[in-house]
Amino acid sequence: MIDPHMSPEDFRRHGHEVIDWIADYWDTVADQPVLASVKPGDVAAMLPHEAPEHGESFDAVLADLDRVLMPGITHWQHPRYFAYFPANSSPAAILGDLISSGIGAQGMIWATSPAVTELEQVVLDWLARALDLPTAFLNSEGGPGGGVIQDTASTATFTALLAALHRATGGTARTTGVEPARFAIYGSSQAHSSLLKAAMMSGLGEDSVRTIAVDPGSQAMSVPALRNAVAADRERGLTPLMIQAAVGTTSTGGFDPVADLGEIARDCGAWLHVDAAWAGVAAVCPELRWVNAGVGEYADSYVTNPHKWLLTTFDCSAFWVRDRAALIGALSILPEYLRNPATESGAVVDYRDWHPQLGRRFRAVKLWTVLRTYGLEGLRAHLRSGVELAAHFAALVEGDDRFELVTPPSLGLVVFRAIGPEQLTMDLMEAINASGTAYLSHTKVEGRAALRLAVGGWRTTRADVDLTWRELGRLLSS
Ligand code: PLP
Repeated sequence: MIDPHMSPEDFRRHGHEVIDWIADYWDTVADQPVLASVKPGDVAAMLPHEAPEHGESFDAVLADLDRVLMPGITHWQHPRYFAYFPANSSPAAILGDLISSGIGAQGMIWATSPAVTELEQVVLDWLARALDLPTAFLNSEGGPGGGVIQDTASTATFTALLAALHRATGGTARTTGVEPARFAIYGSSQAHSSLLKAAMMSGLGEDSVRTIAVDPGSQAMSVPALRNAVAADRERGLTPLMIQAAVGTTSTGGFDPVADLGEIARDCGAWLHVDAAWAGVAAVCPELRWVNAGVGEYADSYVTNPHKWLLTTFDCSAFWVRDRAALIGALSILPEYLRNPATESGAVVDYRDWHPQLGRRFRAVKLWTVLRTYGLEGLRAHLRSGVELAAHFAALVEGDDRFELVTPPSLGLVVFRAIGPEQLTMDLMEAINASGTAYLSHTKVEGRAALRLAVGGWRTTRADVDLTWRELGRLLSS
């Protein structure tokens, strides 16, 4: 009988090879075109139709990494990757993730691996304190609030909506379901699409979402428009269920006025969910704490993604609630096979009740390795560098009469366009992306095309921003 498993010696050897491969990749990534240039089907065409019958050597797999996969990889860790918000994968986080895989524990309940739950509770408290979030969110307070790591901000928003539904229906949502036409959900025209998706998944449907206008200059939700929409819904007998405040919108980095939205939520009994997926972590820097203004007083739930700007390999989305009762009420389930004395004692948290899925990875390890090895000072230096580089790029745009800023720079995000016909801006984006020098994305602001340059990768330097700027200028004049 053959032993199909890798021997410990081979595991060590290949493990070293893989780390070497990653280090070599990082050494050369800046020299490669940022964007993958394969056509649909190119990668799949290089892969066999069926899984091998006989196990191959790991060396053969590693060889195919370069030959088959890398041509189809867009380099998110490239120093001139500016397209979407960063998805930083730092050395510390990778090693933490590797440890998590090595331990391979499932932390669905406290009893299935106590350290998985307890480390998560502690590192989320560390992060909450670092962001100056309200003490009501801390796990160490023993409730009613608390934090949990979700896979993504989209899941966090969905979970917040389920908690809101539970609270608004007095629990009947989980037993007899929901009556879609009874509830209304509010987000601005700039809210992330995950809000719409949450409405679809919850059974309330897209039609339950009110798209509230933004103020043209700030791209922040218009408070009078929200007030009017809530009043109109109440007049029609609908229940305002959840208001989502966006702290750092995807398109332009706009900030909804959380406190004003919170007042309205309080007045109509709606749940206030704050989506700070990208921008929230900036509050590690005391001078940027303004990003979370109003959260302490008003937010029922809050999400920010260490897996974006805060150097923690995807996936790691930090989600806090002010009162866990609605969340657990909406999602708790206790099949016989998960009954255990620790759960029954009430002395422990079972995170399977805090999100849709049962099984859960030990994600807290990578956040722990990041927080410990960078320290808050290291994280601040990283965040500040992104903000400074964005300000530098914005100054270059402002100083050139061929370009204009579309909105004021927001933390690490600059939204700008080439002055001239609409197509000029889009052509410029196509050209710079095709050049391989940098990767930018576009958006529409007040109906007109604009480019987004999102700084925040841990390798990005001033030289990268300058090179991108020079290339944009050259392409525009060519
Ligand atoms: N909310 C905002 C404001 C975002 O910018 C994004 C992604 O960029 C998301 C939510 C979705 O994040 P995730 O991919 O973690 O679901």
